[in-house]
Amino acid sequence: MVTKIDHIGIAVKNLEETLKFYEEILGMKCVDTEVVEEQKVKVAFLPIGDTEVELLESTEEDGPIAKFIEKRGEGIQHIAYRVDNIEEAIARLKEKGIRLIDEKPRYGAGGAKIAFLHPKSTFGVLIELCERD
Ligand code: ZN
Repeated sequence: MVTKIDHIGIAVKNLEETLKFYEEILGMKCVDTEVVEEQKVKVAFLPIGDTEVELLESTEEDGPIAKFIEKRGEGIQHIAYRVDNIEEAIARLKEKGIRLIDEKPRYGAGGAKIAFLHPKSTFGVLIELCERD
């Protein structure tokens, strides 16, 4: 059902400071940034091989990324797997009794269609499904 790791989502306190590390030390390159209002987050994309690192900074104190950092500190927040058809994937997971955070696809950064699965159903990992054109 899933075809590749689309990206790895990393929660950070300060996007600008973090980018210095990724660009100047690791030699990766940020190709785009975007504010996703609905998720109260500013996102930076750094491609690596055929996948990407997605750095996430909260734009609001009560946003999901701010809450994540408050509870668990900075670090890997989710893994996104690519799917060809997200509606089909969601239907299949529901049928199998997998707990979903999103029962319908929603807008993701970069124009993707995304849906999150609940970590209680995935052995502790917040999994994002991601469909791109
Ligand atoms: Zn993501």
